Amino acid sequence: MSTPALMPVYPRCGVRPVRGEGAYLFGEDGERYLDFASGIAVNALGHGHPALVKAIADQAATLMHVSNLYGSPQGEALAQRLVDATFADTVFFTNSGAEAVECAIKTARRFHHAEGNPQRHDLICFNNAFHGRTLGTISATNQAKMRDGFEPLLPGFKYADFNDLDGALALIDDNTAGFLVEPIQGEGGLMTGTDEFLKGLRAACDQHGLLLVLDEVQCGYGRTGKFFAHELYGIVPDIMAVAKGIGGGFPLGACLATEHAAKGMVFGTHGSTYGGNPLAMAAGTAVLDVMQGEGFLDHVAAMGERLRSSLEQMIPNHDHLFHEVRGRGLMLGLKLKSDSRRFVAHCRDNHGLLTVAAGDNVVRILPPLVIDESHIAEFTQKLSEAARVYVPVADD
Ligand SMILES: *Cc1c(COP(=O)(O)O)cnc(C)c1O
Repeated sequence: MSTPALMPVYPRCGVRPVRGEGAYLFGEDGERYLDFASGIAVNALGHGHPALVKAIADQAATLMHVSNLYGSPQGEALAQRLVDATFADTVFFTNSGAEAVECAIKTARRFHHAEGNPQRHDLICFNNAFHGRTLGTISATNQAKMRDGFEPLLPGFKYADFNDLDGALALIDDNTAGFLVEPIQGEGGLMTGTDEFLKGLRAACDQHGLLLVLDEVQCGYGRTGKFFAHELYGIVPDIMAVAKGIGGGFPLGACLATEHAAKGMVFGTHGSTYGGNPLAMAAGTAVLDVMQGEGFLDHVAAMGERLRSSLEQMIPNHDHLFHEVRGRGLMLGLKLKSDSRRFVAHCRDNHGLLTVAAGDNVVRILPPLVIDESHIAEFTQKLSEAARVYVPVADD
């Protein structure tokens, strides 16, 4: 057999981490990496956070899994805390971001069905978005590289350009259920939604009885220095998908909704064997305890400002390579003038620095939210050294 035992769908690199500590990862031979990727915005508390480790270990020894056929004191408690902290009235727990978006799509369709408008099943989505890899979420994601060969896709999605409010409004018709949008696009290249765009989508929803469905899988959960990115815009969604940071590395996601938007999600309409099991709830509770601690989000905002200004100061010194800084809080992107994948590999292989490439030649910078000034200083030093010795390829 020539196919690897692990299905070869990822272009895996040579870094093979076996241990993590705070903002650092260690490879099989003890090599040390500064991790400003955080498992793609997942390890919000860094690696091996003692409170998270203890919560998982204690819960594993107490009760790991029971069926959702039984009552869930752990799920009720965490859902209540999310309800108290957000726009939402109700929460469905999932095991991943794609499942959270699936639940959001189902909730939106089912709302209009319950309202007696089953023809309103189309979600208006946005080019260069990313919503996950299930058949439903690749149908919502208008990117050929994720869809080729997987047709037929799910009907019921239309696409406008991100930040093009008029283009999105022009797609509204009698079949429209609402909008599905990332306030800040992650995979798409750290494109930040404008105030006018997101407020305009909200206003259109209010005007036409549509639902605003936000995908905050990457930009939510403290990443921008707010608990959720939509707070930066002073708007609220009707439905929101969350994952990544919510479990701090434990597979957990959630779909949050208002009572009104969730009116169709009654007994028997949705489910998940693992979703919201006691182990996941313990992890989620530990993460939320830390994030709701005094000053946590202010710290993220302050570190974000500091990191952004360090990056901005670096641009003139490397202006053959660096173009601009994008993003908010600790969800930052450095747009390059050449291929970002190659530069990310160079930083990783030659300078022990982990970042993530995104679309549009952006280097995504997603450190653990618990970093301090010393990590930013180390990052800045490694990045400028990496840029100084880097030779971009002419035809990149
Ligand atoms: C990562 C991501 C997803 C998919 O999450 P998975 O846990 O990989 O299924 C969905 N939406 C956004 C915005 C993401 O960044």
